[in-house]
Amino acid sequence: MPELAEVAYYCSRWDVGRGCVVEAVEAHESTRCFRGSNGRKIVEALQGERLVGSRVHGKRMLFEFSDGLWLGLHLGMTGKLLVRENGEARERHDHFAMRTSAGWLVFNDPRQFGKVELFESESVPAFWVDLPREVLSEEFDYTFYKSILERRKRAVLKSLLLVQELFPGVGNWMADEILWRARIRPDRRVSSLEESERVALFNALKFVCRGAMKYIAPDFSDPPKSWLFRHRWRAGGHCPRSGVALERDDVGGRTTCWCGECQF
Ligand SMILES: [Zn+2]
Repeated sequence: MPELAEVAYYCSRWDVGRGCVVEAVEAHESTRCFRGSNGRKIVEALQGERLVGSRVHGKRMLFEFSDGLWLGLHLGMTGKLLVRENGEARERHDHFAMRTSAGWLVFNDPRQFGKVELFESESVPAFWVDLPREVLSEEFDYTFYKSILERRKRAVLKSLLLVQELFPGVGNWMADEILWRARIRPDRRVSSLEESERVALFNALKFVCRGAMKYIAPDFSDPPKSWLFRHRWRAGGHCPRSGVALERDDVGGRTTCWCGECQF
């Protein structure tokens, strides 16, 4: 499932179309990706408009078009944005595509948990302005972070980190990476944390978000081998810090990977 940096990466793939006019729009209007919206209306509205720019917030993307039109996109589990050359055939999971002089800007989503929505607004749509603080923003400081922990004392850490209204963009692998780096077991509760552990968790949260944006967002490169990321997917993977075999189990309903040797 695309997380913070993967979403930023996919969003940037449509940058080639910035400034271009949408010459044609094709959509599979009956796919789940248009749930709650009128697919036909989106197709008709964007035709002839110009792509002005884009922005990312956590796992959400927003594309600005001329005439006060905004396209909201969520990649869900398997969505991606890509560009196909004009003349290149589109494939069956290309549920939404806009033709520009730079090529077809395509939203592809085999499992259709992604979402495409249209907003009409002279300035940035209200829902976007109201989104929670981004983890990498200055306003997401230690005081703000502590206020989250205060309100969620009973929460299991792995589950808490996945709450998008609190930690936008953090997904499964990032949550595991953060806890591994902070040396805290994923099944611990907030109330069990010592002050030094709270600090370690905060620092790891910022570090992993920054690192993900640095390594993955520009061109989908992997983080360095010193990251859990490089070892967690492999069966029989070993902790890059202690060399001990990694553990895997369900925590809060999600497959979780951790090191029994260096997480307490
Ligand atoms: Zn370890």
